[in-house]
Amino acid sequence: MRLSELIPFLNELGTEPKKRLSQNFLIDANIVKKIVATAQISSSDVVLEIGPGPGALTAELLNQGATVIAIEKDPLFARALERLQTEDRRLTVYEADALDFDFQQIEFQKVVANLPYHITTPLIERFFERPFVSLTLMVQKEFADRVFAKEGTKEFGSLSLFTQFHATLFSRFFVSSRCFYPKPSVDSSVIHLTKKDPPANVSPLFFTLIRKAFQQRRKTLSRALEEALAKEQTKQILASIGIREDARAEILSLKEWILFLKKALPGIVQENGNSCRDHQTTC
Ligand code: SAH
Repeated sequence: MRLSELIPFLNELGTEPKKRLSQNFLIDANIVKKIVATAQISSSDVVLEIGPGPGALTAELLNQGATVIAIEKDPLFARALERLQTEDRRLTVYEADALDFDFQQIEFQKVVANLPYHITTPLIERFFERPFVSLTLMVQKEFADRVFAKEGTKEFGSLSLFTQFHATLFSRFFVSSRCFYPKPSVDSSVIHLTKKDPPANVSPLFFTLIRKAFQQRRKTLSRALEEALAKEQTKQILASIGIREDARAEILSLKEWILFLKKALPGIVQENGNSCRDHQTTC
């Protein structure tokens, strides 16, 4: 929806963009098209969209033949989406808070969304509890930097490890704040990830320990984890996998974290076994 269409549309609904719902609407048709092209939508896809708002992405997804399940918290927008309904009824709208929504009750292959930025992290964790093919999401640029970060950089952290554990990081592109109304104060990026089989089966403690280590990222790993693991033991294990004893959390790659925690607490990591399958992992 261009700005010249959006403003009359908002007036008609008698509403204005709400800050508390992170309402920054896409007003650049090229970006909308680029997001949907990146998601490689085909007519057999069931797409989950969170926060459709006025429906710019929703309309393009339906145009491409997808079946769309949209979850929108703002009742005004949720109801107004009915105007996009297709003859073969490919659009289902839930007026709900995505954070409370039970994703078990729906099946979808792809998630495509210009997400409310304040709920990105908890939502991504929830998605990975479900089977799906890919995520194509507009996120805050800093969030994209953290997802795509390589070990040894300041952006690298538990979010990077969590997403790299669960997904293949396919691509990203920058989106200028001029593409939104109102203009957000932060930069944005679209990220495209496909779900993969994780390299190991891990219990929830795996990411709890990683989070703990990164909460104190200036400390050496042996100090940051001392409540869970004796310092000397941490140092020995690090040395045994070829890492310096005074390493900090951000130095270890995903592979090295798996090796390290497998040696430190063998029960929490099983390479391709099944015993931890039922546990959820969170970042
Ligand atoms: N996708 C639209 C709107 C993006 S703005 C576009 O690109 O133009 C973010 C949207 O998410 C708004 O419509 C807002 O009402 C909705 N939203 C905010 N918090 C939400 C939540 N917890 N659950 C579902 N939708 C939410």
